[in-house]
Amino acid sequence: MTVNLLDFDAERLADFFSEIGEKPFRAKQVMKWMHRFGESDFANMSDLAKSLRAKLGDMAEIRPPELVRELDAADGTKKWLLSVGGDNAVETVFIPEANRGTLCISSQVGCALECSFCSTGRQGFNRNLSVAEIVGQLWWANRALGSEPGGERIISNVVMMGMGEPLLNFENVVSALNLMLDDSAYGLSRRRVTVSTSGVIPAMDRLGERCPVALAVSLHAPNDPLRDVLVPINRKYPLKELMAACLRYIEHAPRDFITFEYVMIDGVNDNAAHARELVELVKNVPSKFNLIPFNPFPGSGYGRSKHAAVETFKAILMDAGFVVTTRKTRGDDIDAACGQLAGQVRDKTKRSGVPA
Ligand code: SAH
Ligand code: SF4
Repeated sequence: MTVNLLDFDAERLADFFSEIGEKPFRAKQVMKWMHRFGESDFANMSDLAKSLRAKLGDMAEIRPPELVRELDAADGTKKWLLSVGGDNAVETVFIPEANRGTLCISSQVGCALECSFCSTGRQGFNRNLSVAEIVGQLWWANRALGSEPGGERIISNVVMMGMGEPLLNFENVVSALNLMLDDSAYGLSRRRVTVSTSGVIPAMDRLGERCPVALAVSLHAPNDPLRDVLVPINRKYPLKELMAACLRYIEHAPRDFITFEYVMIDGVNDNAAHARELVELVKNVPSKFNLIPFNPFPGSGYGRSKHAAVETFKAILMDAGFVVTTRKTRGDDIDAACGQLAGQVRDKTKRSGVPA
């Protein structure tokens, strides 16, 4: 059977080369070709012997997910729809800003966690993405964007905030993260790679031990009764335990804070009392806040908070000493904003989605 080398992190690629009787440094050379230069044809890997190129061509391939569509928004945001077979597709978004370029990557086809305000959650769950499908999103974006004439990176940050709950596809996500961090692949620093989770506590602990990148936690509510409704996984992993897990993570984290994401939904979680309760909840956790205006989608039943409500909410957090950013909505003309990523999810069988 032909193996897809995009599925292998550095360790597995080195093992593969040793199994086929080649020196480990060959693995590094191939890794650079594949990831750094976006090469998918062994024949073009000019510093490998012709015989090795032919041997690799016989037994392996470099197969990223298939590109279905590339969309450009008026503000420079780009979105790629990638086919992952079986009529399923996932979305990847690039958001250029003055001092950085952020790529937002998906980890699953759909999501099993059914947060009530999330379009991906409403679509149901089909399956986990493979390593090749996760890292393949960066592979495509890198190829499409290239680098600045001075060699400066265009993609400086990666956030796992696309479709899916990354920590429920743990092993594949960790292998993909390892490739993002590897100097022979994408060479990003741990501080510039962020995993966003709805709060899968045991996997947060494992991530801290295995691959401590920056962590964002989707909070969205200051108390359990409300969070149980908005983020149903809260019934399994309630807020008190989640705060304790955040403190444990900080001991490993490359940044000395956790980012709390909070979607502002009109009349649901956005009044002054909510903000004060939130301050009490997180006061012992070194953290920053990212307030995200709710992005509507058909049939969501929710609306975006009023500007004045967001400002009052923000002021209460800031008065309590927190750094607060309000996320600008980007790329809405191509449905590329947070929670609007829908891709295409067929056959929502919900296999192995939610932990028992
Ligand atoms: N499953 C992970 C990562 C993907 S969602 C998580 O939940 O953290 C990325 C972020 O987008 C999360 O903070 C999520 O709550 C937010 N989001 C989901 N739907 C949204 C919507 N309709 N409007 C604004 N943000 C949304
Ligand atoms: Fe899944 Fe995150 Fe959407 Fe919740 S917000 S349904 S965890 S993708």
